[in-house]
Amino acid sequence: MHAFRMLIDGQLLDGSSSFDVLNPATAEPFARCPKADESMLDAAVAAAKRAFPGWAATPIDQRAALVATLADRLEARAAEFASLLTSEQGKPLDQAMYEIMGSVFTLRAFAAMRIAPRTLREAGGNVVTEHRTPLGVVAAITPWNFPVILVMNKLGPALVTGNTMVLKPAPTTPLTTLLFGEICAEVLPAGVVNTICDQNELGAKLAGHPDVAKVAFTGSTATGKKVMATAADGVKRVTLELGGNDAAIVLDDVDPRQVARKVYGGAMANAGQICVAIKRAYVPAALYDDFCDELATLAKAAIVDDGARQGTTIGPIQNKMQFDKVKALLDDARERGTILSGGEALDRPGYFIPPTIVRDLDDEAPLVREEQFGPVLPVLSYQDIDDVIARANASDYGLGGSVWGKDLARATDVARRIDTGTVWVNQVLAIDATIPFRGAKQSGLGGELGEAGLHEYTQAHIINAVALEDA
Ligand code: NAD
Repeated sequence: MHAFRMLIDGQLLDGSSSFDVLNPATAEPFARCPKADESMLDAAVAAAKRAFPGWAATPIDQRAALVATLADRLEARAAEFASLLTSEQGKPLDQAMYEIMGSVFTLRAFAAMRIAPRTLREAGGNVVTEHRTPLGVVAAITPWNFPVILVMNKLGPALVTGNTMVLKPAPTTPLTTLLFGEICAEVLPAGVVNTICDQNELGAKLAGHPDVAKVAFTGSTATGKKVMATAADGVKRVTLELGGNDAAIVLDDVDPRQVARKVYGGAMANAGQICVAIKRAYVPAALYDDFCDELATLAKAAIVDDGARQGTTIGPIQNKMQFDKVKALLDDARERGTILSGGEALDRPGYFIPPTIVRDLDDEAPLVREEQFGPVLPVLSYQDIDDVIARANASDYGLGGSVWGKDLARATDVARRIDTGTVWVNQVLAIDATIPFRGAKQSGLGGELGEAGLHEYTQAHIINAVALEDA
């Protein structure tokens, strides 16, 4: 078995202790993860701080070339990464490979991006230019649903713009980040990227560390609020990518079965554990029965199994805490609504919940109001478009959403009225590194990806110059 180590100041190190990492398909340990204590966290931040001036002074083309090398090395080991990702996260191997290749493309996309200085004024001998300078040490804190690509969304822009980093993965999916640390050790100067692992004890200390300039956080809204409060003390920069409760609004001019197939994919990929998964679907009353029936047919045909098995379409829930949360939502939904497929955890080891379609719930049901983060989709009916838009917007979340309609102009008009950071029309989950991504309301602060995502790792630096008049 591979000996996983943390990367601190260019050295691959054991922890001060270690802990088991479970495979969610068996609920059995399959590897040990090194665990950092506070002194190792301090050492990682200190290494990143020491590396910062040299890295920031390295020409951007050279930094970008090294980020492109990271992409090449990741691609060369894609099969190894995908297999490890399936073991620790649970997702089917083809979806794991998709995440790894998405990570490669993300790094390459950022390696190709630049921010040019802008001339803001050039008049009467006065020249005002805006430069963008790096911030310093960036702490990247990531969750367990996409443990690889959510690191790359942060690492690509942070490194290209000249920052150094400490990466802290989620305790249940730390290993792919550690494996990536091995690549960083081969490619980057010591201290530019460091990795530390914990069991949820070090996140707050890292976010509050006086030598951390920015916290790039992806995770739940509850933890994001804590990160923001912790960062307030040092007036640190934060980006928060938080939870969502994305609505799909189906319009009345579609073939319900065709759209149900697309909505199913958007709700059930990664066993529903996607921040922008479809988490509730609103369907015109006239199409409701057909739509629900098609979803149930698809759900019944799913192959729910270990993600390492060829042909699996739905893997396990990633961890026991989330598994218990989804089961509690199912118990409640069984009382309040009609379950058309699934509805019970599988009677086998591991955290398996089959894809579940629930109809006839009211808007107050916890499965509708809360973020389920599992393969369970509530389908609600509506009569009036203004009313359904209000229902979709009645949420503290504002991450994504989708509108489905044959009349593209009308569907786009509806999309404009959804109060979220992204709304897809006739598609869903279309995220790539060149398009900015950010949450509205309690789904986030600041954003990632795109050129705007690059700016988030920099500080505006204004140079306002006039010539000295002749003496
Ligand atoms: P979580 O908030 O429990 O944990 C995320 C990370 O924060 C982990 O690394 C954890 O160790 C760390 N952490 C815990 N306490 C901390 C503290 N006090 N200070 C700093 N860090 C701390 O989230 P999770 O359960 O791992 O992930 C699921 C959530 O992430 C869902 O709500 C999902 O919607 C959200 N998510 C959002 C996006 C997005 O881009 N908006 C993407 C993926 C997941």
